[in-house]
Amino acid sequence: MWFGSVDLSEISCTEVLEEIELYIDGELESDRAAHLAEHLRTCTPCMRHAEFHAKLKDIVRSKCRSETPEHLMVRIRVMLRREDPRPK
Ligand SMILES: [Zn+2]
Repeated sequence: MWFGSVDLSEISCTEVLEEIELYIDGELESDRAAHLAEHLRTCTPCMRHAEFHAKLKDIVRSKCRSETPEHLMVRIRVMLRREDPRPK
């Protein structure tokens, strides 16, 4: 069987969206990443999606750096203590 009209270098938006996180993390094979990059260049919705994910990752990364889980736990504990009316 011959899929004459199918260009294997073309990937669908669905495929792009499935692999966008890997792409942003740099975990895709370079061939695959090149195809994704090519798609993003020509497809605005997917490009927006990629930008959104990249920004999200940036935010998460910067939050993790400035706020260690230990810090967070202390804050939560303080908050709980304040909320909790102690019986006398
Ligand atoms: Zn697309």
